[in-house]
Amino acid sequence: MEQAQLVAIAEEYGTPVYVYDEARIIQQYKRLKKAFGKQAVKLHYAMKALSNINVLQTLNKQGAGLDAVSIEEVYLGIRAGFQPQEIMYTPNGVAFEEIEEAVGLGVMINIDNLSILERFGATFGAKVPVCIRINPHIMAGGHANISVGHIDSKFGISIHQLRHIQRIVAHYQLHIIGLHMHTGSDIVDADVFLQGADLLYEAATHFPELQFMDFGSGFKVAYKEGDYITPIEEIGQPIGESFAAFCEEYGRNLELWFEPGKFIVSESGVLLVSVNTVKQTTSTVFLGVNSGQNHLIRPMFYNAYHRIENVSNPFGVKKLYSVVGYICETDTFGYDRPIAEAKEGDVLGIYNAGAYGFSMSNQYNSRLRPAEVLIRNGKAHLIRKRETLEDIVRNEVLIES
Ligand SMILES: *Cc1c(COP(=O)(O)O)cnc(C)c1O
Repeated sequence: MEQAQLVAIAEEYGTPVYVYDEARIIQQYKRLKKAFGKQAVKLHYAMKALSNINVLQTLNKQGAGLDAVSIEEVYLGIRAGFQPQEIMYTPNGVAFEEIEEAVGLGVMINIDNLSILERFGATFGAKVPVCIRINPHIMAGGHANISVGHIDSKFGISIHQLRHIQRIVAHYQLHIIGLHMHTGSDIVDADVFLQGADLLYEAATHFPELQFMDFGSGFKVAYKEGDYITPIEEIGQPIGESFAAFCEEYGRNLELWFEPGKFIVSESGVLLVSVNTVKQTTSTVFLGVNSGQNHLIRPMFYNAYHRIENVSNPFGVKKLYSVVGYICETDTFGYDRPIAEAKEGDVLGIYNAGAYGFSMSNQYNSRLRPAEVLIRNGKAHLIRKRETLEDIVRNEVLIES
C-alpha cells in the first residue's frame, strides 16, 4: 500500500481507520497452500483474527474453509457463504447446548474436554463424526498468553489421557474422524512442530477411522525487522514429507489441515491514526493519537511490537517519539521509535494490524470503533462504517421512573 493512497484514504474516510490489502491476503493464502510440497493441505482460516464478511468471502473464493471458536462465528461464516461442512468449530469451555446447536447446523465439531466427549457420545453416539483436540504439551514460543500447548493450559485433552479417550470412544462407538492440535502462536522451526506431530501420529494409531489431521496454527510473521518468522517455504517440505510417511504407515491417505489466522491477514492491515498532540515532557516527546488500546490492544496486552510510520511525511527527518493513545490508561503503542518528524494532524500508520486488531477492539471510554477499508484491485472500498454514539447506547434500557 502506497503512503499517498493511505493519506487519501484517511482524508476520505477519516481516522482512525483500518485498511486491508486484499492482494496481500490472497498472496499469503497461496504461499501457505503450496508450502508443503506434494502434500495437499486444507486451510481453515481462523476467523477470530479478522472476521469482516468481505475478508471471509475473499478467502472463501480462494477455497479456504473456516476455523470458528464461537457459535456466533459459525453463524457469521455461514452468512458469508461458507458451507457448514467447510467450518471447523473448536469451542473451549462452552455450554453443551451450543455444541448441539452447531451439530444441528452441520459443522465439524472439535472436542477439547473429556466430559464433553462423554456427553457427545451419550447424545450422538456413532451418528455424528467428530474431531478430538489433543494437548501435546509442546511449549511453543515464549509468551504465556499465546502458548496454549503447555501443561497449565486450559486447551485440549492431554495426550496423557489417551487411554481415557479410548474408553469413551469405544463405549459410545464414537466416530472419530480427526485429531487436532494447536500448540500456540509461534512455530519457530520444523523440529518443535514435528515433535508435536509425532505425538499425534502415535495417537492416531488408536483411531482407525480418521479422515484428517489438523495441526492448528502458530505460523509467525515478522512484526519488526530481524524478527524470527516461520520460514514456511523451508519447513513446509519436511512437514509434508513426514505427513506422507505417516499416511503410508497408517495405511490410508488422510487430509492435512491447518488453521492460520495471523499468517493470512496480519501483514495486510494497517491502522491509520491522526496525531492529536505533540507533547514535549522532560523525558521524551509523546505523539498522542486519536486511538488507543480500545482499537489495537496487542502492544499493551501482549507487549507486541508494531512498526509505526508517519505516512503524511514519509521522507522527513527521523526523531525519537513515544506514541501513545487517548484512553485514560497507559496505552503506549511504542516507546522511542524513530519516526519522520510529526506535527499535529499528521497521519501515522501502525503496521501489521490486520490480525487481532479490529476483532479485539472495544468501546472503552465510550469511544467509537473505527471504520474498515479494503483495497481491492487497487481501489479502496469502505467495508465497515465507523460507529456512532447510537451504537454505544443501542442496548441500554432506561428504567421508567
Ligand atoms: C487462534 C487460533 C488459531 C489461529 O492462530 P494464529 O496465531 O492467528 O494463526 C488457530 N486455531 C485455533 C484453535 C485458534 O484458537
